[in-house]
Amino acid sequence: MSRAQRRRVLVAGGAGFLGSHLCRALLDDGCQVLCLDSFVTGRARNLAPLLDNPRFHLVRQDVTEPALAEVDEIYNLACPASPRHYQSDPVHTTRTSVVGALNLLELARQQGARILQASTSEVYGDPEVHPQPESYHGRVNAIGPRACYDEGKRCAETLCYAYRHQYGVAVKIARIFNTYGPQMDADDGRVVSNFIVQALAGGPVTIYGDGRQTRSFCYVDDMVDALLALMASPDGFCGPVNLGNPDEISMLELARIVIGLTGSPAGIVHTHPAADDPARRRPDIALASGMLGWVPRTRLEDGLTRTIDYFASLRTGL
Ligand code: NAD
Ligand code: UDP
Repeated sequence: MSRAQRRRVLVAGGAGFLGSHLCRALLDDGCQVLCLDSFVTGRARNLAPLLDNPRFHLVRQDVTEPALAEVDEIYNLACPASPRHYQSDPVHTTRTSVVGALNLLELARQQGARILQASTSEVYGDPEVHPQPESYHGRVNAIGPRACYDEGKRCAETLCYAYRHQYGVAVKIARIFNTYGPQMDADDGRVVSNFIVQALAGGPVTIYGDGRQTRSFCYVDDMVDALLALMASPDGFCGPVNLGNPDEISMLELARIVIGLTGSPAGIVHTHPAADDPARRRPDIALASGMLGWVPRTRLEDGLTRTIDYFASLRTGL
């Protein structure tokens, strides 16, 4: 048996957008995959192609409950990522981020397993430093509507380092920047899925505020490659490491590109700006490219085209 075939991997949040792509990649690599998910934002549809694989196992469980499993590697992706969802139950979002990370770190300690924590560019808040290097400590409003997520993820990073120092657990912290692709949920509320779904329906496309705020979008296949590379990195490398595509774009430009690629007659409407919306965001990925030999390869137009095809197929039931 190869090393990959022997690896038993727990993916918490495996029914979600990123998690379902990661589960598929791990199965393709020959791993045993245990997906743990509460289905709060995850979808059974995302896992349907994996269910017949004898190396895939699914447990419906909330990560705030202690997890028991024999595993070699743990990916902690369990947490709603869309502002709409994580702000709808801020207490449970905080509990998921903090208690969930604690439970999985405890499992990693008991099992001698490696653990990768899905952190976020949101730990930088509304940044004053641009682009954001890992050394920047961020500017987060601790009592704002995004705090349940931002501060929860910051505390999870703290816990990872505490488990490393106190118990020698092999931790890996990925600061993930905006990622998009097929298997995002149509009702998820994030900008790429919203714009595509709105454009395919004939519009209008809703921009929150003036549309000059920027993000840097990474295609999901590139992100999965980065997560696998980080998990496989030497024991001494813990991060945090920025993972994302440094190509920065305003929401107004994004809306125009999506409308163009869909060939939609949709117009654009501007609504109220979202509270505490970061004005600019772009990763400095020097550490990821140096330590992991990773750079994103998918051009925005190519990734958007594949994502548009996915949402179009949902509309036609293909
Ligand atoms: P998603 O909402 O599609 O997936 C999250 C998954 O976690 C879902 O399947 C959901 O049901 C599950 N989940 C949530 N709370 C849970 C709980 N308490 N117990 C068990 N399962 C739970 O989001 P995503 O985009 O796939 O994000 C995955 C991870 O990556 C998240 O931790 C998110 O914070 C992080 N991340 C994602 C992005 C991005 O742009 N996609 C950016 C930064 C960080
Ligand atoms: N946004 C928008 N219209 C939408 C959804 C989002 O203009 O329908 C904006 C939002 O205000 C933010 C950016 O797009 O400036 C990215 O939002 P998203 O929720 O995708 O991610 P995050 O804010 O967490 O980076």
